[in-house]
Amino acid sequence: MVASPQSTAVSHPWIPFGQRLAAPITKGAIETLQINLGRRCNLACVHCHVEAGPQRTEMLDGATLADLLTLIDRFPQLKTVDLTGGAPEMNYGFRSLVIAARSRGCEVIIRSNLTIYFEAGYGDLPDFFAAQGVRVVASLPCYLQDNVDKMRGHGTFEKSIQALQWLNRLGYGRDRHLTLDLVYNSPLPSGRDRFALPPDQATLEAAYKTHLRQHFAIEFNHLLALANLPVGRTKHFLERHQLAAPYLQFLADAFNGDTVDRLMCRNLLSVDHRGHIYDCDFNQMEHIPARAVDGTPLTVAALLDHGNLDAIATVQTADHCYGCTAGCGSSCGGTLT
Ligand code: SF4
Ligand code: SF4
Repeated sequence: MVASPQSTAVSHPWIPFGQRLAAPITKGAIETLQINLGRRCNLACVHCHVEAGPQRTEMLDGATLADLLTLIDRFPQLKTVDLTGGAPEMNYGFRSLVIAARSRGCEVIIRSNLTIYFEAGYGDLPDFFAAQGVRVVASLPCYLQDNVDKMRGHGTFEKSIQALQWLNRLGYGRDRHLTLDLVYNSPLPSGRDRFALPPDQATLEAAYKTHLRQHFAIEFNHLLALANLPVGRTKHFLERHQLAAPYLQFLADAFNGDTVDRLMCRNLLSVDHRGHIYDCDFNQMEHIPARAVDGTPLTVAALLDHGNLDAIATVQTADHCYGCTAGCGSSCGGTLT
């Protein structure tokens, strides 16, 4: 169910997310390791929940990289290693993580902004991706140039199109071993009457495929439609426009309990550049650490010491979790229901 824009007129404050749940969200077996390699990025998108950009200096350090390589090697229960940032490709440890995870048989996801391939020193990335057989999940918040350039910077759309054509030439989106998915984000709302959840994912995917095929001969596998969570630059934007509270109310009014069992945080560990562990990348940006059963914040080094990845009983939640549970739900894998 998607709340109508009129529902933003509700004046009472939303129920805190934790009270909305019948019980705390339990952690299942860990299958995905999502590593945020740092905040450095060649872009500085207006909606970025990481607040990434070219001037950011936070990057994965050598000791944490070594611990992560050990973790990937030691725990075959990890099915997926998901590399994000910033632009994860800009970290020196990026390629060694890809090679280590692939050699262990893990699916490797690269969350790529596409434009990085045109920066000096990164032109061999598409070939590296294809040789390693990684899955590319690429940001393209709209199939129209104007909308993309407004969100991500002038010239971004043109480079993204060239990059997608480049990936297609290597077999991405065509060869069944080379998956290319695109990510849609709603535009930031300019007023209460503009609050929106992502449109129906399947319908939007069909529209993207038709447009990109007809205009640019681009093929891709799936579109992942993501809601804007009030975190990072999106949160600051909402606060600047006095929209933070109404937007949270909008999300809370659209709460859908059927999404809870499928939330990505149930089977995922999110790691920051210092080796600290969170239940997801949004909690990481909000400085809400994942906690062991005894309440202590977790690190990669502690998990290695314990010899057990399944050290978390319940997921830490906050009101931004309404962004994952509104309407059809939202996750790094797209819609949930
Ligand atoms: S949204 Fe992605 S591409 Fe844009 S600044 Fe953030 S990390 Fe970089
Ligand atoms: S923000 Fe989403 S993924 Fe993260 S803990 Fe909340 S519900 Fe789970």
